Amino acid sequence: MDKKQRVICPRCGARLLMDTSGNGPKGKKECPKCHYQDYPESFPVVTGRLRLEEGGDTFYLKKGENVLGRDATSGTADIKLSTDEYMSRRHAIIEALPLPGGDYEHRLKEAGSLNALLLNGKEVGRGETLALQPGDRLTLGRTTVTFERL
Ligand SMILES: [Zn+2]
Repeated sequence: MDKKQRVICPRCGARLLMDTSGNGPKGKKECPKCHYQDYPESFPVVTGRLRLEEGGDTFYLKKGENVLGRDATSGTADIKLSTDEYMSRRHAIIEALPLPGGDYEHRLKEAGSLNALLLNGKEVGRGETLALQPGDRLTLGRTTVTFERL
C-alpha cells in the first residue's frame, strides 16, 4: 500500500515525501539532504501551510495541534508568526485531524486570547472552533496569514 506522506526533516527542516509505513532497512528513514536517520514517527507529517500576507514567509502545519502566537522569548507557540505586539503568545490553535482516505480536516480554535482573532474578516468568538477552507484568511492582532492545504 502506498503510504507516502509529506513530512519535515526534524534536523534540517527539508520537506520530504516519505513512505511512512515503516518498511525499508531496519524500518528507519533517511533525509536525502542531511542524511539524518530515524524511524518514520520522528518525521512530523505536514498537512498545510500558512503564508504571511506581508513578507510572504511560510509556516508549515503538522498533523495534530499547532499553537499559533507571537514570536516572543517566553512564547510557547509551535508556530511563532511575527513579533506583532497585538498578537498573543498563545492566540489560536489549528488542529489537523486525519480523515479516512488520507486527507486532513483543519479546525481553527480561538485560544482565549485577549486580542481579536478574525477569520476572513469576521471575529471568532472566545473558545469557538471553526472548519478551515483553503484560501481562508486568518488575522491575529495586526498580522494576516492565508491558509493552504498540502
Ligand atoms: Zn534533513
